[in-house]
Amino acid sequence: MADRHLGLLSIVAPMLDEEGTAQAFCDRVRAALDGLPWELVVVDDGSSDGTPQILTAAARADERVKIVTLSRNFGHQTAITAGLDHAAGDVVVMIDSDLQDPPELIPTMLEHWRAGSDVVYATRTDRDGESKFKLRTADWFYRIMGRVSDVPLAANSGDFRLLDRRALDALLTMRERNRYLRGMTSWVGFTQTALPYNREARHAGATKYPIRKMIRFALDAIASFSHAPLQIATVAGFVCAMLAFLAVPVAIVFRIFGEFVPGVTTTVVAVLLLGGIQLMAIGMIGEYVGRIYDEVKRRPLYVVRERTNVAAAEDERQRTPV
Ligand code: UDP
Ligand code: MG
Repeated sequence: MADRHLGLLSIVAPMLDEEGTAQAFCDRVRAALDGLPWELVVVDDGSSDGTPQILTAAARADERVKIVTLSRNFGHQTAITAGLDHAAGDVVVMIDSDLQDPPELIPTMLEHWRAGSDVVYATRTDRDGESKFKLRTADWFYRIMGRVSDVPLAANSGDFRLLDRRALDALLTMRERNRYLRGMTSWVGFTQTALPYNREARHAGATKYPIRKMIRFALDAIASFSHAPLQIATVAGFVCAMLAFLAVPVAIVFRIFGEFVPGVTTTVVAVLLLGGIQLMAIGMIGEYVGRIYDEVKRRPLYVVRERTNVAAAEDERQRTPV
């Protein structure tokens, strides 16, 4: 399988309010891929700053730069999906557009692809310019995911990865709304290779992942790749039932030996504990039911406002499995 021929390489980059980085990003991609047949599909995920103007100028100057403008902000994972839908290459690389992922790594990813890898995911060895809080929470997150997930997930790998067309086509048939692309690219299988790299600090601007979005993202990830939270409810139910079962003979013994004190505290604690566990379990079920509701509505994943230098993607309804 070695020595694959590269007809076209697609770089897919989501962009939200990156006016301080957009130009530098396009320039670095162009420099890094010099001599290769490439296209750059930038997805403007509802930017409200100067990003659209910069992108339009870049697309006018070089028609290998393509823009898909979404009608509003649809979120990072959905924006990447929109870019993947519009990518025409035999090989696709998804990359963040804030230059935290170095485009210079792409030729090395391609070498792995030439040697037979279908998915090359970059894993971060160092992360410059990130807060302690972000590093710590990310660490916890990957640990929990590693434990509960149904598919193997590499810790410390972001969305920076290369996909062969076969793996990409498999990924594109997955039209679920709660998208955790890292898990989904692992799910498709094929030959997967890890490639360590040093994640740089943001080129400019601030993170577009505030804590609220991070929590949503983590819940999406867990809910789409694990049923463990639902099983926790079952386990908690069993434990409580066991405790109650043990409590009966204890109460009888106390009664017989006359040391039985009517314990208001015990009752209150038991009621609160059980009530708490039940509410928690309902909440967990709610997380899944809400997602089921989202899925059954079958809305399109995103709406395109405008395309520059690129034709419309294949109708996404055709991709939806019946
Ligand atoms: N991004 C996006 N839509 C969003 C949030 C982020 O397209 O709703 C883009 C953003 O422009 C960046 C990439 O996704 O290129 C990663 O976001 P960010 O750097 O803010 O995340 P972090 O690296 O801090 O986790
Ligand atoms: Mg970033």
